[in-house]
Amino acid sequence: MTRVFNFSPGPATLPEPVLRKAAQEMLDWHGSGMSVMEMSHRGKQFISIYDEAQALARELLAVPANYKVLFMQGGAIGENAIVPMNLIGKTGKADYVLTGDWSQRSFKEAQTFGTINIAATGEGDKFRSIPKQSTWKLDPQASYVHICSNETIGGVEYHWTPDTGSVPLVADMSSNLMSRPLDVSKYGLIYAGAQKNMGPSGLTIVIVRDDLLGHALPITPSAFNYQLQAEADSMFNTPPTYAIYIAGLVFNHIKAQGGLAAMQVHNEAKAAVLYDFLDESKFFYNSVAREDRSLMNVPFKLKDESLDEAFLQGAADKGMIQLKGHRISGGMRASIYNAMPIEGVKALVAYMKDFEVRHG
Ligand SMILES: *Cc1c(COP(=O)(O)O)cnc(C)c1O
Repeated sequence: MTRVFNFSPGPATLPEPVLRKAAQEMLDWHGSGMSVMEMSHRGKQFISIYDEAQALARELLAVPANYKVLFMQGGAIGENAIVPMNLIGKTGKADYVLTGDWSQRSFKEAQTFGTINIAATGEGDKFRSIPKQSTWKLDPQASYVHICSNETIGGVEYHWTPDTGSVPLVADMSSNLMSRPLDVSKYGLIYAGAQKNMGPSGLTIVIVRDDLLGHALPITPSAFNYQLQAEADSMFNTPPTYAIYIAGLVFNHIKAQGGLAAMQVHNEAKAAVLYDFLDESKFFYNSVAREDRSLMNVPFKLKDESLDEAFLQGAADKGMIQLKGHRISGGMRASIYNAMPIEGVKALVAYMKDFEVRHG
């Protein structure tokens, strides 16, 4: 068996020990005679799996007691509608900060549900940087302010937390939740699909402050009503049981490695290997403003685009896959989430150096 270095933006590489454990437990989970996939979500075996995943998520993220952690479905794209349906009712208005493709999609989807104001946009800089908070035009009457904490396609990431005063801050953290420690108390709501840093697709994590529950628009489907899901411990409908189980194994693995502080050290070290090389290369480049570079998704281009295909093929031959950039931006992108070992990034940089020598 050979495992590749998988630089996919998501669904993404998972820690090998987690996959091994899941394989071991596939046919018979802890003597139950069943796979986790076959268990009732209301049975005591699955409830123990659910409770452990909940407890670990809360522990790793130091979630304060006045927040609920919901395990939902629908992904971050679903949340683009679910968030306004649940939160915009207070004033009918919301502020959105645009920093790239994902926040633009959130903004577009929200239009259906109220008056959406663009508080700031990085479009003037082709989304290569995050607009400074001093330039934001925030509406004190907004029900919430929405940001995307890490733009998975453009590779820009907030390395600071916006201050929105008494207006709740809402963040799509799909591609950087659990990659570093986080002060949850600065946010009203955080959402993230699991398939970047936390597990398989199908599970969406929503962390919501208690006072934001109970304001859903009447059109909100019950399964997407945060209050109803909170009251039902995320079991208003059948939750994505197997994805919750795998996420629990990933959380255990993160904890065993030293928690989110250790993830941050590991992720900074990996990103430095790649960005340091890009900065000195005359052949490859990254266009994102230095202070806003993502530690998770590193887009880069070859100065001679006619070599793109040869670059990708050569990488695949060496067991490095999914390096092709998003169709919107072209070029390359290396997604280097928690589960990407530093050896993978070093192998990529060694290959890039060699490619530059051969073609430069
Ligand atoms: C991957 C991603 C999404 C899309 O998530 P889905 O699970 O496809 O709904 C949205 N936002 C960000 C920031 C992402 O990285």
